[in-house]
Amino acid sequence: MTADMAGPDPRHHGQLFIGGEFQDPHSELRLEVTEAATGATIARVADADREDVDRAVLAAQVALPGWAATAPGPRAAHLARLADGIRDKAEEFAQTISREVGTPIRQSRAVQVGNPIAITSHVAELLPEYRFEEEIGNCLVVKEPVGVVGAITPWNYPLQQVMAKVAAALAAGSTVVLKASEVAPLTALMLAELAEAQGLPAGVLNIVVGRGASAGEALVIHPKVDKVSFTGSTRAGMRISELAAATVKPVTMELGGKSASLVLEDADLATAAKFAVYNAFLNSGQTCTALTRLLVPAARADEAVEVAVATARKLVPGDPMDESTRLGPLASAAQLERVRGYIERGKADGARLVIGGVEPPPGLERGYFVQPTVFDQVGPEMEIAQEEIFGPVLSVIAYDSEEQAVEIANGTPYGLAAAVWSGDRDRAIAFARRLRAGTVEVNGGAFSTQAPFGGVKRSGHGREFGRFGMEEFLVPKSLQL
Ligand code: NAD
Repeated sequence: MTADMAGPDPRHHGQLFIGGEFQDPHSELRLEVTEAATGATIARVADADREDVDRAVLAAQVALPGWAATAPGPRAAHLARLADGIRDKAEEFAQTISREVGTPIRQSRAVQVGNPIAITSHVAELLPEYRFEEEIGNCLVVKEPVGVVGAITPWNYPLQQVMAKVAAALAAGSTVVLKASEVAPLTALMLAELAEAQGLPAGVLNIVVGRGASAGEALVIHPKVDKVSFTGSTRAGMRISELAAATVKPVTMELGGKSASLVLEDADLATAAKFAVYNAFLNSGQTCTALTRLLVPAARADEAVEVAVATARKLVPGDPMDESTRLGPLASAAQLERVRGYIERGKADGARLVIGGVEPPPGLERGYFVQPTVFDQVGPEMEIAQEEIFGPVLSVIAYDSEEQAVEIANGTPYGLAAAVWSGDRDRAIAFARRLRAGTVEVNGGAFSTQAPFGGVKRSGHGREFGRFGMEEFLVPKSLQL
């Protein structure tokens, strides 16, 4: 990373934030952070080990009584200052994410940075009014902080996933050890700089960078960690759930998805198909809620494919730092391999590739670029229709009846998000109720950073954002009077 690039102070790259200060890690290993558009190394960060995690947990434990006893008003003020701090440095946060994740800069500003500001501000606003006590029968029910929280986050929306956990846990009066993603850790270090500059009490928020198998697992099994909040792949979520069971820790799991856009017979198909492509290819398809299956009436499948292809054509891949780019690269070499593998398997399974493919887009052989890809004639049981690809790959699936459409929409192991399109809003809402998903977009309804967000089935359990998110970090206690 050159000195003029946005990001954390280079002196902090290889450090951890523990007990209110940047510290050198015990571990001498370092991990490379690469630039998505070029593959070049832009930072060397810590690869925290068990001893590092132990120090961070101890700091969170020491800070817990003081923070839990801090009134909601002052806690809210700290959160509001963090939100302001991110807003003040919004452009630097956005550029950093565009480099490490590859998100086009305009999407980084609006989504990658806009959402975490909104999430944090909203929690800060609701906190002073929240009722931490209520009477039930002869009892006074008091909601207490769960304790020390181990938060583990992915790389695709690195700041949003961090703030969804950190803002909620701190609002609840819990303290946090965050294990940031080793693929995109730079904005977590920038957050640590804000916490330090703004005088967040020492130990309330501790940030370590390291690999899942070492630092992540050390956090999950730690006997002094009272709760784990995880966002990431279903595979890692299963492993973490098993490990957490040994100490009977509560866990919140925000996992993968394979979400469907269900276009009913009476819908405006052109608008729905356009929306599906923009949604599925947001952040190059590396979005947990990506609507990657477009379900359309069989008689109108050709029309849907035509719109999807025309829309995909407009999303020309390019440099994420360029203001006009609407489709950036994938985040890593591993991700590129994975997405190409799925495209190959889609073809081998008999789906019809109508645009895109495994070859890099012309002129973009460096970095982790992939072409926007649309498959037609996808069978609902094919691998590309069942598994999370996490790349700009859309599957068009034709259905014969609306009953069958609901069955297909619900017919994957996941249940994170969905969308329904109909000319009749009430009919759309009736179908939305039948879909097994934590969030359902109705006729393109906007994503909310206030309403509960999370999944069912193998997309996980527990909710983030707003009041519901904060309650994940509270435990009710009944005082029998
Ligand atoms: P990942 O599961 O590989 O890693 C996520 C985090 O978990 C990283 O910090 C990683 O170091 C850590 N980790 C991995 N294995 C671990 C282990 N055994 N013990 C402890 N920690 C471990 O996921 P990723 O590739 O970083 O992110 C992509 C995934 O995240 C996708 O599946 C996506 O759908 C999901 N995701 C879900 C949501 C949601 O809210 N539901 C949001 C964003 C991303």
